[in-house]
Amino acid sequence: MGSLGFDGFLLPAPSDVSWMTDFTGHDSVLVVTPDAMTLATDFRYVEQVARECPWLAIALRENQMAETLAGVLVRSGARRIGFDANRLTFGMHRSLLGAIQSAGGGSIELVPADDVLLSLRKIKDAHEVENIRRAVGVAEEAFRRLLGQIRTGVTESALAGILEMEMRRLGASGSSFSPIVAVGASSSLPHYRASETPVRPNVPLLIDWGAVVGGYCSDLTRTLLIGDVDARIEEIYQVVLKAQSAAIRLLRPGVTTRQADSAARDVIREAGYGEQFGHGLGHGIGLEVHEMPSLRRQGADEPLQAGMIVTIEPGIYLPGVGGVRIEDDVLITVDGCEVLSSLEKSLEACRISV
Ligand code: ZN
Ligand code: ZN
Repeated sequence: MGSLGFDGFLLPAPSDVSWMTDFTGHDSVLVVTPDAMTLATDFRYVEQVARECPWLAIALRENQMAETLAGVLVRSGARRIGFDANRLTFGMHRSLLGAIQSAGGGSIELVPADDVLLSLRKIKDAHEVENIRRAVGVAEEAFRRLLGQIRTGVTESALAGILEMEMRRLGASGSSFSPIVAVGASSSLPHYRASETPVRPNVPLLIDWGAVVGGYCSDLTRTLLIGDVDARIEEIYQVVLKAQSAAIRLLRPGVTTRQADSAARDVIREAGYGEQFGHGLGHGIGLEVHEMPSLRRQGADEPLQAGMIVTIEPGIYLPGVGGVRIEDDVLITVDGCEVLSSLEKSLEACRISV
């Protein structure tokens, strides 16, 4: 706050509030000033605050959130209040300005900033790494349990449900996102959702899933080859695997996000599939499944730092034929990296029969 010239900061996003305080509820806004943290919340969360972060001051909201927040801000004496522009809605900003005026805080200024909290959240501490490690382990074990249940006729949606149930049985509070389970040609849609399509032989089966453990997300993808698949699928499988290894080999502090992306992209381009890898190489994971940094060819280029945890997920998508994506979660360490996920991914290991 000091370096940004703020004497207050507003945090309306639940994941930012949780990162700062351990409070896991919603509909609450944290006000941070140099000497206090106050959570504007309502009756539903009073007992929860006492359990999760009893040290936290509460401003109890009885009417509009904007009025409660304006009261906290005026009482704090802060003048220049920052907020992350991507986190505060236009509606909240507008009503907050009105409420501040009404509360006699005419000299208070609300100042937008860019991804202040997400930047702080990029580097994971030991507690966060441990939670993500557990989230990866739970997701992997659930996947192993799923493997034995993949049969001809079982729908994508049913497989997604089995994965979610197994993750919860293993201690997850839920899924990082609704699992993507894509049979056959649908696997060429990078963000396909599981539907009623049944499993059948001789097609690829792409599964992208993750668990939430201790609030933290994992995010993995495996592409299974059911029986004898189209030769083009086998070919792109080997290219994607090679691209992923090339990127992982490079990862260490100082290597930039764009360099990592290029390491994988060059392999895919040289194999003639550059146009079929239309998304970035990966992204940070944490309390949210998509965090900073973003590993991609456009946009911000930044050096990787020890403590970041990123996904490495190259893919090749052939419309009408199918797609292959392989995704692992990787911790950047002081002298290299550690792949947190250990599910097998050689083509032969991913060939299954149903
Ligand atoms: Zn994923
Ligand atoms: Zn991902």
